[in-house]
Formats: sequence, C-alpha cells, structure tokens
Amino acid sequence: MSRVYNFSAGPACLPEEVLKEAQEDLMDYKGKGMSVMEMSHRSKMFDDIIKTAEKDIRDLMGIPDNYKVLFLQGGAYQQFAAIPMNMMNKHHKAGYILTGQWATKAYKEAKIYGDAVALASSEDKTYSYIPDCSDLPITDDMDYVYICQNNTIYGTKFPTLPNTKGVDLVADVSSMFLSEPVNVNDYAVIYGGVQKNVGPAGLVIDIIRDDLITDEVYPGTPTMLKWKTQADKDSLFNTPNCWAIYICGLVFKWLKKQGGLAVMKERNEKKAKVLYDFLDQSKLFHGTVEKGSRSLMNVPFVTGDKDMDAKFVAEAADAGLLNIKGHRTVGGMRASIYNAMPIEGVLKLVDFMSEFEKKNLK
Ligand SMILES: *Cc1c(COP(=O)(O)O)cnc(C)c1O
Repeated sequence: MSRVYNFSAGPACLPEEVLKEAQEDLMDYKGKGMSVMEMSHRSKMFDDIIKTAEKDIRDLMGIPDNYKVLFLQGGAYQQFAAIPMNMMNKHHKAGYILTGQWATKAYKEAKIYGDAVALASSEDKTYSYIPDCSDLPITDDMDYVYICQNNTIYGTKFPTLPNTKGVDLVADVSSMFLSEPVNVNDYAVIYGGVQKNVGPAGLVIDIIRDDLITDEVYPGTPTMLKWKTQADKDSLFNTPNCWAIYICGLVFKWLKKQGGLAVMKERNEKKAKVLYDFLDQSKLFHGTVEKGSRSLMNVPFVTGDKDMDAKFVAEAADAGLLNIKGHRTVGGMRASIYNAMPIEGVLKLVDFMSEFEKKNLK
C-alpha cells in the first residue's frame, strides 16, 4: 500500500490513524457485528456516536451551553440560503464582506430572501487580500454581518474579525474548521462543510447561538431548512449522514489526542511558515496573497508562466505530491495543508520546489 501526499482543497486528506480505525470498525463496529453504515440512526449505538461527537467538538472548541451544535446535510452551500431564511427576520437586511467566491455566492443567495448589502470587497485585486474591516458601513438595522473567514480558493484569512459594531457575526469556516482555537462568543453562528479540514463530504456543522433558533423564519422556508426543526430533534429529525458524523467523531478524538486546537494551531503555523518562507525567497515561485492576509490552510502560488505551472503540477504528481493545481480563477498552484497534512508532506513539497527551481530557472 502506498499513500501520497494529497494537497487537495476538498474533499481532502484525513488522518491515517482515523482511516485505519474506520477500516477496523468497518465489518464489525465494536463487537456489534455491523458497520456504522448499517445501523439505525435511532439505535443506541448511533446515539452514542452522535452524542460523543457533539461532546468532543464542544470540548475542542469550548462551545458555551447557549450554543446549539447541528449536524446537517446539504453542504455549506445550502446554509447560504438557510442563514438568511433563519436570521433575516427582524429587519430583512444583512451585510456581507466579499472576500472571494464563497462569500459572493452566499451574498447572491441571501439577496433572494432579503436586502443583502455588500460592505466591502477585495475583488479589485482578485481577492488577494482581506479589506480593512475596522469601520465598515454597518447599520443597526442589519440582522447580521457575514464573512467567509478563510477563503479556500484565494488563500486568504481574516487577520482579525471585523468590527461589526455590535451586530451578530456569521462565519463560514469550512476551510479552517478546528485548525486553531476560537472564541465562540465572538460569533452568532459558526458553520462549515466538514470535507475540507475535518471529515468526509456530505456533512455541515452549524454552531448557533440558541436565541437565533426560532419559528420566525422566512415565509415558505422548507421544514428541513428551518434550524429549529433540527435543533428540536438534536439533528435527528430525519436520517442524518451517520457515516460522516462517525468519521468526524473519530477526527475529534484524534484532535484531542494531539493536544487540542492550540497544538494544531502551532503545527499549522509551523507548516505554513515552511512554505511561505520558501516562497518569499524563491526566484521562480511567488505567493499570490498579501502578507497580512495569508491563510494557514490554503497556499496559492504561481511561476507567472502557465506552461511552467503545468509542468510543475505534472512533475509534482509523479513525485507523489498530488492535487496541487490551483483553482481555475487563480491559476498556478495551490497547496492545501490542512490539519491532517503532516509536516513531512510540506517539507517534501518544498524540497521538490527547490529542485524544480534549480532545474528550470533560466
Ligand atoms: C468548499 C466550500 C464551500 C462549499 O461547500 P459545499 O459543502 O460544497 O457546499 C463553502 N465555503 C467554503 C469556504 C468552502 O471552502
């Protein structure tokens, strides 16, 4: 068996220990004679799995009791609709900070349900920076302010949270979920698809302050998109993605074993530094993001020559460094170095880039 270093932006690499544990459990989960995929979501076995997963993510993130944790389907994209449907209920207005494609898609979706206002944008420079968010035109009549805290495609991350002037903050953290400690109280809602930094595709985790879980939703909101439906049934209103919840539960245990989110942050900073330090001195490769806005998770870079980029991507794949091609809107390369990417993978990438540079720099 040979494993590659997988730099995919998502679905992305998972910790090998977790994959092995899932493999062991596959035919016979803890002596029950069946796999998690074959269990009733109403069974005691599964109830233990989901309750333990919730407890562990609460421990990891320090989620206060007045926040609900929901395990939902439909992807982060479905929450682009669920957020305005559930939250634009006082003034039917919200502010959006446009730092990339995902924030812009959320903004466009919100416009269907109410008055979504663009507060700032970094589109002028291909979203290569996070705009100054210290004094945005936020007004009291906004039901919330929305950000995508780590921009998977462009490789930016908010260096600090925006000043929302007292308005509730909603954050899509899909590509930085559990990568560092968070102060949950700074947010009204934290949510993300787990397939970037946590688990397999098909599951979204929403962490929602409980006063926002209400019957006063947008008229015509489907039952399944009303947060209260799921909150009242502890994410078991209908059949959830049992398998993804189980794998996430294993990842939570793995994260606890590593020492928690403070340790992950330290490791992630170390990994990102290796790559950024290399890029900052390279004569062939260049990072595309302004220094103050750099992501720890997604690192885009280019040579400035499309053919050279393509050659690099192909040769890297031959060397066991996979999925390093950049998003089509940025071009070049992107290395996603999530929690499950070991530092050895990043060191191997940098060595490979260094060798490639020596051979190809004219
Ligand atoms: C991938 C991604 C999404 C979309 O996730 P789906 O689960 O495919 O809907 C949304 N936001 C961010 C930041 C992402 O990286």
